[in-house]
Amino acid sequence: MFPITKEDTCCILEYKGETMEKLKLVISEKEIRIKIEELAEAISQDYAGKKPVFIGVLKGAFIFLADLVRKVSLEGLEIDFVRLASYGLSDTTSGEVKIIKDIELDLENKDVLVIEDIIDTGITLDFFLKHLEKYKPNSVKVCCLIDKPQRREIEVPIHYRGFYIREGFLVGYGLDFAEKYRQLPEVYEIVKE
Ligand code: 5GP
Repeated sequence: MFPITKEDTCCILEYKGETMEKLKLVISEKEIRIKIEELAEAISQDYAGKKPVFIGVLKGAFIFLADLVRKVSLEGLEIDFVRLASYGLSDTTSGEVKIIKDIELDLENKDVLVIEDIIDTGITLDFFLKHLEKYKPNSVKVCCLIDKPQRREIEVPIHYRGFYIREGFLVGYGLDFAEKYRQLPEVYEIVKE
């Protein structure tokens, strides 16, 4: 039922009452694996000799962070999570960001790498970067799996970028639509009909 190859790019995954939800494959498992290796190598080189703190932004970045940390070689790496919410159950941002779960580690003088799933309008990341300043870290950088710049409202720094995707609402590999599809190993676009 689930497409694994790009030849089979469009498949109906689910019927929601009368409506069909179609998912189109956008990034394959293999492409993600290769990209994570490239990102991990760059991050390992840049942070060599340091003890950075990776902060995963929940829920969307949980798989990306888990895969990435197993490929970086950095002794003394620490991991924390923050949970931010701005989308609720719809596919557009409400513009208001809330902290559902805050950072627990002491970040003073630490080198922080924020691990994001997608940067879309930039509102969520901008909010979080300002919030991070209060913890007085030594440095803050950003790593995102997907940069979706078309709807950008606030310019935000992106130091490590997995993929550029122009548009569309994406699911899979941690990304959800109304809490569904996070478990898919690839990234799909929801095809609007
Ligand atoms: P922003 O504040 O940059 O508009 O959105 C950031 C957050 O919105 C992301 O961390 C992600 O959770 C969610 N988001 C943005 N675009 C998408 C998308 O295409 N699919 C999903 N599932 N979430 C998205």
